[in-house]
Amino acid sequence: MRKIISRISAIFLLVVSTLSFTTIAKSAEFFTIGTGGPTGVYFQTGNAICKMLHKYATSSEHGRSKANSDKAYRCTAPSTGGSNYNIGQIKEGEFQFGVAQSDWQYHAYNGSSKWEGKQYSNLRAVFSVHNEPFQIWARKKAKVKDFAGLEGKVVNIGNPGSGQRGTMEELMKAKGVSNSFFKSVTELTSSEQVKALCDGKIDAFGYSVGFPNGAMEQAATCGAKALPINLTGSEVQGLISGADYYAQAIIPKGTYTGQKKDVTTFGVKATVVTSADVSEELVYLVTKAVFENFDDFRKQHPAFAPLKKENMIADGLSAPLHPGALKYYKEAGLM
Ligand code: GLU
Repeated sequence: MRKIISRISAIFLLVVSTLSFTTIAKSAEFFTIGTGGPTGVYFQTGNAICKMLHKYATSSEHGRSKANSDKAYRCTAPSTGGSNYNIGQIKEGEFQFGVAQSDWQYHAYNGSSKWEGKQYSNLRAVFSVHNEPFQIWARKKAKVKDFAGLEGKVVNIGNPGSGQRGTMEELMKAKGVSNSFFKSVTELTSSEQVKALCDGKIDAFGYSVGFPNGAMEQAATCGAKALPINLTGSEVQGLISGADYYAQAIIPKGTYTGQKKDVTTFGVKATVVTSADVSEELVYLVTKAVFENFDDFRKQHPAFAPLKKENMIADGLSAPLHPGALKYYKEAGLM
């Protein structure tokens, strides 16, 4: 009798576990949003999008999408090397979404600058997010007042794959200098550079990031300052004129400890990108989750406070909009 009972329960367990495995395998589809360093705003952006998606999915559809009741989407947003790394991973099919600077969205889609010979025409835009002024932060003892003062200094140009690295190199090109202009260059990540600056291991770093930003406040607290980046006529011609992905930018005085003046510079937009190969259903759902929980989304980081829906669907997007995003914008009357 005992044998029979244990056999029956073994069969029962097998059936139950097979059933639940099939249910899980069928119901959850995981996808990834590439972000940036853990102390930047991209990491918060990717995770805020995941949070909105999970909130939207559980509130409206009990974790299932409207279009296909077999599926529930689950999202992760790990920290990464930044813009160009994210676009590369989307191209490889490793990530489904990524946060990327508007200049690198443009260059990847058009096959220019770092993307020359590697054009990624299947790159698609979803929406843009916060402004990212390009900032050069210098430590107090380095006594640097502007870009010219960086001559002979130790400068972090950023890790390969980051947007900050690419944009620093574009700025250097416009200024007509190469690495040899500096005493030496480092390739630290965004999360390593502030400590290195405060410890005096580097004199300055160039970084494109949203504000206010906790890591930059840490730099300000150790006495470092963001320098204004003024471009002369030919430099403006070389860098920002005719380039829709760049704009003049200001970090208003008082943003950081000890910042008495507005810092004038140029900047980019943070944008969310995907691939033409990602399904319309998923992109629609991600877009809808952010736009239908907009007030909550804006509260996820102080850099999101000024966001407006109408700008997010227009500014800094040079790749075509993904059909899933377009579908939502039309349905919501935003387009
Ligand atoms: N703009 C930076 C990059 O693409 C990342 C900034 C951030 O992590 O917030 O490398």
